[in-house]
Amino acid sequence: MADVLIAGAGLGGLTAALALLQRGHRVRLFEQASELREVGAGVQLGANGTRILISLGLREAMEQVVCAATGKEIRLGSTGQAWQTFDLGETSVERFGAPYWMVHRGDFHRVLLDAVQAAAPGIIRTGVAGTGFEQTTDSVTLHLANGERVTGDVLIGADGVHSRIRQQLFGEGRAQFTGIMAWRGLVPMQRLPPHQRRLVGANWVGVGGHVVTYPLRRGEILNFVGVVERDDWRVESWTEPGSREECLRDLAAWHEDVKTIIRNIDTPYKWALLGRDPLDHYAQGRVCLMGDAAHPTLPFLAQGANMALEDAAVIARCLDAEPVEPALQRYERARLQRTAAIVRGSSDNTKRFHNPALGSPEGAAAYVEREFQPEVVAKRYNWLYEYNALTVPL
Ligand SMILES: Cc1cc2nc3c(=O)[nH]c(=O)nc-3n(C[C@H](O)[C@H](O)[C@H](O)COP(=O)(O)OP(=O)(O)OC[C@H]3O[C@@H](n4cnc5c(N)ncnc54)[C@H](O)[C@@H]3O)c2cc1C
Repeated sequence: MADVLIAGAGLGGLTAALALLQRGHRVRLFEQASELREVGAGVQLGANGTRILISLGLREAMEQVVCAATGKEIRLGSTGQAWQTFDLGETSVERFGAPYWMVHRGDFHRVLLDAVQAAAPGIIRTGVAGTGFEQTTDSVTLHLANGERVTGDVLIGADGVHSRIRQQLFGEGRAQFTGIMAWRGLVPMQRLPPHQRRLVGANWVGVGGHVVTYPLRRGEILNFVGVVERDDWRVESWTEPGSREECLRDLAAWHEDVKTIIRNIDTPYKWALLGRDPLDHYAQGRVCLMGDAAHPTLPFLAQGANMALEDAAVIARCLDAEPVEPALQRYERARLQRTAAIVRGSSDNTKRFHNPALGSPEGAAAYVEREFQPEVVAKRYNWLYEYNALTVPL
């Protein structure tokens, strides 16, 4: 059994910890934040992610906090016209063998944290950033910002989009500002008028932007993401607050339902969207990357967290069988192609959601009917949900 060090106790690091603990490995997590909590925002989890959580024994705990939306629709930003794209809920279970869940990041993080702490109390250290590592053929040592050194058999860099571990392995890399930023916020559902209190996910599309809304926490909260083409905000962070007024200004031409949601957000957060080319490697010796550290992505296929869950399941399976170095090579081979395809597919969706054809109601109707027909949507999304990280050949 391996002695595993994990830098970062976010969604990916915690899931990897749980998967590894359940397989009998020793795990220690090192998190830079002094307090373990997540800012308000939602995450959508497709069947490819939820089947992993269920396999880890988290179904019951997750069901207490998720919202299983009944359907998904496309809406036109200017007029509000709606098209049904696909059913979720029971249909996801029937078609892909696992549910589609929408969850508050904080609730999701808490479920993972409780499970890790119950499985192995005291293995998470907070307020200790990983700054780098050194490795030999026999071990790897993680350097912490307070000067401490901790040694184990494997180091997993689960330290997010600005990963220090990635930096040391593969250099700075090139992040390009996309010219797009995302507003994110939450609204208590009861603040909204009755016609907006529905358990459906909506993708509002328009020229130069799109808006995604979906219910969380059994329908008590509505999650809002407003993506706009604007190039004066370049901070890539979960926690930068903006104002409702500024958010309303950015989406001034959008349908009244969108503006009603914005007026009811307590604090909207601003996130600049940066694009990065996929890496050629995720592992070197006894060190590997996972989640956003390995394959940061634009959020337009809603797959960043799902990929982190898949990575966690595959790393755990790989470490079962072999010595560390070949196990991590196997992990890398299993994950490179799929994750690169998701990163590229997410970028492609920018053009789809912000297409100039959406400028007039007639052009928009023809465009939506062509681009979001059920068969076309199925082709774009089914391969994401069908993937089973628990059984995929390694
Ligand atoms: C607008 C938007 C919407 C999104 N919607 C979805 C969605 O619907 N579905 C989906 O699947 N994904 C979505 N995502 C992506 C998803 O949130 C991320 O892909 C996911 O959080 C990645 O998990 P992670 O564990 O790799 O990174 P994180 O969750 O970022 O965790 C990294 C952790 O590492 C810690 N850390 C950082 N540096 C260090 C260090 N040096 N030492 C120790 N610890 C460190 C951080 O504090 C953090 O706790 C969205 C993202 C955005 C921006």
